[in-house]
Amino acid sequence: MAHHAPTGADSSSAQSGASSSSPRSPKILDGKTLSRAVARTAAARVSEIRAKVGRAPGLAVILVGENPASKTYVASKHRFAKECGLETFDAHLPASVSASDLRKVIEGYNANDAVDGILLQLPLPAPLDGAEFVRLIAPEKDADGLHPANQGLLLQGAPAPRPCTPLGVMVMLDLALSGVEVNDSTTLADIPKASLAGKSAVVIGRSQLVGKPMGFLLLERNATVTFAHSKTSDLPAVCRAADVVVAAVGVPKLVKRDWVKPGAIVLDVGINRMPDGKLCGDVAYDEVAPVASAITPVPGGVGPMTVAMLISNTVENCARRNGITP
Ligand code: NAP
Repeated sequence: MAHHAPTGADSSSAQSGASSSSPRSPKILDGKTLSRAVARTAAARVSEIRAKVGRAPGLAVILVGENPASKTYVASKHRFAKECGLETFDAHLPASVSASDLRKVIEGYNANDAVDGILLQLPLPAPLDGAEFVRLIAPEKDADGLHPANQGLLLQGAPAPRPCTPLGVMVMLDLALSGVEVNDSTTLADIPKASLAGKSAVVIGRSQLVGKPMGFLLLERNATVTFAHSKTSDLPAVCRAADVVVAAVGVPKLVKRDWVKPGAIVLDVGINRMPDGKLCGDVAYDEVAPVASAITPVPGGVGPMTVAMLISNTVENCARRNGITP
């Protein structure tokens, strides 16, 4: 559960750009607990949509091949969708599926009016090119927010499904900057959208999936955003200047204690499998947590929120397609 530790700094230290270097207890941004708040919000919206449209929003999940990690992700997306009352559609295709058969499956869901969200689980097995098939998804049914049309709408600040991982990170940031403690009845309506006016944010990583859209979501909230990447010089100094650090790199424990300004909010997107089989993030959690005002753990941080925002996107796609306002 997200909590304020009794002796710890709260988010106001990041808001004011605190400079004390004394160790603190950070607010732990628990993605599992917060994802339940997304689920409650989505379930209520599903009831509203059912009443107005006469059916539940539908999510179609396309899995190609037997990649164990992909199978696990798909199972958790299904479970979450069911819990929120969505109707789910399933296509599990062999790794040997032809491009034209995969295309037909996507086109079938595009044409099916009961489907509001289409998720093509990536990566696709070679030689299939994920980006090529994501482009075939009808943009208004894009559950992941990765269709080029939706990425363009993000740049324009226009309504469209946003990429799930950065969207989940924004909710975690809202939680960090609120005084809210998530409990069994919290919904997203209880967590105010934070203004980042006057705040600096650094996003480490510039992928289409995470880094780039992340930066634009932060910019939408008026943060002053720096994109850092493998060609950035003096990355520690770039990070130290930031009130908000988002790490989306794929390098275990890259972000060290002395990279982080005391009181900063640290959001770790990285998921790295260590030789002992355990997962760790891109942030050296144990050493960074004491200087941060809020931090996400790995696992149990951004990951569960990514799944939750996929469902939220599908529900909102359905609402948008049926003229139901937010
Ligand atoms: P990606 O496409 O490989 O992009 C990695 C980015 O990190 C690139 O922009 C790269 O810079 C940059 N980078 C690599 N090494 C660096 C270094 N030493 N210093 C600074 N920047 C460096 O990865 P991604 O898809 O964005 O994913 C990033 C991480 O997030 C991975 O661990 C992935 O598993 C995880 N992830 C988690 C979730 C979730 O739900 N929690 C979702 C998606 C991804 P260049 O552009 O210069 O090469």
